[in-house]
Amino acid sequence: MIYFIGAGPGAADLITVKGKELLEKCDLCIYAGSLVNPALLDYCKPDCVIMNSAHMTLEEVIAAMVPAAQAGKLVVRLHTGDPSVYGAHREQIDLLRSYNVDFKIVPGVSSFCAAAACLEAEYTLPNVSQSVIITRMEGRTPVPNRQKIADYAAHHATMVIFLSSGMLEKLSSELIKGGYKADTPAAIVYKASWPDERVVYCTVGTLAESAAKYGINKTALITVGEFLGNIYDRSELYNPNFTHGFREANPHLVDLKPESK
Ligand code: SAH
Repeated sequence: MIYFIGAGPGAADLITVKGKELLEKCDLCIYAGSLVNPALLDYCKPDCVIMNSAHMTLEEVIAAMVPAAQAGKLVVRLHTGDPSVYGAHREQIDLLRSYNVDFKIVPGVSSFCAAAACLEAEYTLPNVSQSVIITRMEGRTPVPNRQKIADYAAHHATMVIFLSSGMLEKLSSELIKGGYKADTPAAIVYKASWPDERVVYCTVGTLAESAAKYGINKTALITVGEFLGNIYDRSELYNPNFTHGFREANPHLVDLKPESK
């Protein structure tokens, strides 16, 4: 059996319990060395074979995993964050299917969730944004038409931009082209949950200079939107005047934030 496991955003204790238990048992662990915290490999048993996929092609990864799985070994493929976000696990899965090798996927804490925790922010504030756009700048990997940064910027939803901290001048101009004002709040979250994590608050117009000031050009997420501001409506879910499936309205309760209604 092969387990694709989300390693979480960095901190070794942000892997799931299930992921950690499998790491402790596995015979072969192939980890995405560019971003997975090596401290996670300490969970592996001493005789576990450990390989760093940063130096390997898809074919080499498959050639290492398949014979091990066929020999009855427990194989872990350790991806950073959650494998479903820019993890390139689909192409591995399809090859494993063609070899009739069984696999399972164990989700992880994506870095965009860890970034929100660093920012102490909620991406989906009522009456500010009810959507989170996870996207990236076009680099060597093309981005399909109608999925460019400027297309999404037009929505004014919360944006979390992966894999783009090396092209922030261009990112700023695309965001502005799409309709964001230069003074829209933005935040750069570098290495969320790692010991050297850093948050830089700035605006859409100052992304590049703000990152340069702290030497940030990789392993960062760019977050954009008014969710970083202080104006929002309180939720209906916890509003005393609101009835829902689990609770009757009780308007006699004190509303702590009446001005926000
Ligand atoms: N599957 C991963 C993303 C892999 S793509 C996930 O779910 O998080 C790699 C990109 O993710 C990096 O270029 C960076 O933009 C972002 N990233 C990964 N870990 C990060 C972290 N701890 N802090 C900030 N950004 C991170």
